[in-house]
Amino acid sequence: MRGENLMQSCENCGEKFTWKQIWKSMNLAYRPIYCKKCGTVYKVPFDQKWKVAFIISFPLLILEFFSFPIFEVSLRSSLIILLSWTVVVMLSLPFTIRYKKIT
Ligand SMILES: [Zn+2]
Repeated sequence: MRGENLMQSCENCGEKFTWKQIWKSMNLAYRPIYCKKCGTVYKVPFDQKWKVAFIISFPLLILEFFSFPIFEVSLRSSLIILLSWTVVVMLSLPFTIRYKKIT
């Protein structure tokens, strides 16, 4: 399984989006992506944005769920877990997120 095969490609011409392209779009409040080859415009559907929000807040839910004394983690470790999780998620999101063609 090679990373680039996971990237979404243009429905029109098959041109693969780059990780950088998607990453940039995500950091600009999900700005639409233009296919470099044919100019087709792609946007992130609403449900995908929810998915991203859910994945990022997932450790919070887990920490909340396991907040029994035996599992208790300090605030500092929780923050470290959350931060590293967010970084990992942000870096791998371009592979996970799916853009939709705008017609
Ligand atoms: Zn294209």
